[in-house]
Amino acid sequence: MEQTDPTVLISEADIQARVVELAEQISQDYADREQLVLVGVLKGSFIFLADLSRRMTIPRVIEFIAVSSYGSGSQSSGAVRLVMDVRGNIENRHVLIVEDIVDTGHTLNYLIGMLESHKPASVKTCALVRKAERAEVDVDVDYLGFDIPDKWVVGYGLDYAEQNRTLPYIGTITPTD
Ligand code: 5GP
Repeated sequence: MEQTDPTVLISEADIQARVVELAEQISQDYADREQLVLVGVLKGSFIFLADLSRRMTIPRVIEFIAVSSYGSGSQSSGAVRLVMDVRGNIENRHVLIVEDIVDTGHTLNYLIGMLESHKPASVKTCALVRKAERAEVDVDVDYLGFDIPDKWVVGYGLDYAEQNRTLPYIGTITPTD
């Protein structure tokens, strides 16, 4: 596959500054609660979760969940499928879902329902980026990094066919499929 460098949409500095703000806000909001369970959605959220969690100042633990909703490129394969559930017990605990990107909203909507079935004390959501104009379901993002235009983005955890995940910035590419 021919690859050109992605065009920078959100710079490394802007991402890092926003991550600090989000971590401070979350740390304030959860200051008087029991230990927070951060649930990262694999694979795309792994870098965002790592940076965000290290900037927090409250007691916290990390869990991961994996879903698959897209094929190897940018085309949706339809329904959301749970690939890996959380390992720890989240009953009666405060849960914050950490997502890389909210596109149509189906994945986050599914995850909220799925995690609520574990009977946590609360479920809130955090996403680095959201394509607001693509929304198909009304799903609350309690902590949002950036609203972005309807373009395929890569970097800072996000891929195109498993490429470009480790770029320090978020960039746009034109998918070839
Ligand atoms: P939704 O269910 O909100 O439509 O889609 C969420 C999932 O779609 C994300 O977790 C991600 O896997 C994928 N996705 C949607 N748009 C993009 C994009 O621009 N770049 C990348 N890398 N993944 C995307």
